[in-house]
Amino acid sequence: MTRPLAVIVGAGVAGLAAAWWLDKAGWSSLIVERAENLRENGYMLGLSGLGHETLRRMGLHDRLASVAYTIDENVYKDSRGRELLRLRYRDFIRDLPYLAVRRNDLVRALAEILPSTVEIRFGETVANFEDEGDCVAVTLAGGETVRADLLIGADGFRSFVRQRIFGADDRCLQPLGYYFSVYDIGAPKNFTSDFVSYAEPGHLAEYYALHDGRLAAMHVWRDGRANLERASDRVDLLRGVSANSNPQVRELLDQAAGEGEPIIVDSLTMVDLPAWSKGRVLLLGDAAHCLTLVSGQGAGMALASGEMLSRALMEAGSLSDGLAIHDARLRPIIGRLQARSRKMAAVFIPEGALAFHVRNFVMRHMPRAWLGRYFSNAIRSEIELAQK
Ligand SMILES: Cc1cc2nc3c(=O)[nH]c(=O)nc-3n(C[C@H](O)[C@H](O)[C@H](O)COP(=O)(O)OP(=O)(O)OC[C@H]3O[C@@H](n4cnc5c(N)ncnc54)[C@H](O)[C@@H]3O)c2cc1C
Repeated sequence: MTRPLAVIVGAGVAGLAAAWWLDKAGWSSLIVERAENLRENGYMLGLSGLGHETLRRMGLHDRLASVAYTIDENVYKDSRGRELLRLRYRDFIRDLPYLAVRRNDLVRALAEILPSTVEIRFGETVANFEDEGDCVAVTLAGGETVRADLLIGADGFRSFVRQRIFGADDRCLQPLGYYFSVYDIGAPKNFTSDFVSYAEPGHLAEYYALHDGRLAAMHVWRDGRANLERASDRVDLLRGVSANSNPQVRELLDQAAGEGEPIIVDSLTMVDLPAWSKGRVLLLGDAAHCLTLVSGQGAGMALASGEMLSRALMEAGSLSDGLAIHDARLRPIIGRLQARSRKMAAVFIPEGALAFHVRNFVMRHMPRAWLGRYFSNAIRSEIELAQK
């Protein structure tokens, strides 16, 4: 029997996981990825809850555990280098399984286990598509037209597929009032911590020591402007943001500028849509419901939603029923995570000096058992919701 075919736009976490799970439901997939290959560097991701469970069911846990990072605690310092806070990860997630991996390691592991029913074409994208009722005709930039049963937009936060089916983005984007930047740099000799954060009102800079002796840097700062990511000089932008930071932050930034590594800058903006599919076109991952790094669950949910889609398609008698089941099961979980992200965004990086000191005081003195209970209960309730 011929397998139904999905064309998947984007070889990120959502696209690769969906292809693996669609194979389990008896489908073939063609993934088109506009980059020439899988990205070689990447920021650090924490995987817990549903996403972690999905990894286990994909048989990926041990492979990822071998490249994962053991991050026991995060030391927060102020602009003068004084310790503000010390957060132990185990206090937050307690007995729940957790893996800290780089995005590129996760994506590579997902690509390596793809079955023979999945083809990936790099340096390729979708130029156009038309839902013809009994199939979707997908025209690739290379000129070929592929007739598929389903087109999946797993093309990230700035999804082309989403804009084509739901129109202008301004109706579904919800900026959280922050920007972020990520880049890699060589670790200076005097850098001895595994994970250190420099914090001041309105700005946070974090550095993770990587296995290869480099550092993964991340800045997050408050800024309500739109389209800042199009700033022509990202280094100048970051220099302005870090003007009052610890001198090490500015030194590392100068070093990054000298090394010429790509510096990514974008806004922290959630995607909130009343539907994730239209006819034979479905959105997955950040394209559908970007949760942002504030939730810490975006990659996890990109993994989990591939599994949920596959199970829904196996249960349903038709594609439209399968997509409806997928939406109905995923929506309460995403709704809860988005509500939590909105709440956390309000206090994520306090802007004024007073709010900053109050937040640090509260975090320093809040019983760790409360924090642990809060996060563990939240993660457990998402798992329970998915099992209903
Ligand atoms: C700094 C940072 C920290 C984070 N921390 C965490 C964390 O701790 N835990 C967690 O679970 N999540 C975290 N996230 C969120 C997580 O990274 C994302 O939710 C997840 O990677 C989304 O995967 P995706 O496949 O939907 O999108 P993406 O990873 O953006 O992948 C989209 C893919 O589509 C390709 N593409 C885009 N447009 C096209 C096109 N037109 N044609 C063809 N290909 C295209 C892109 O090249 C890319 O390969 C973090 C995010 C950031 C930025």
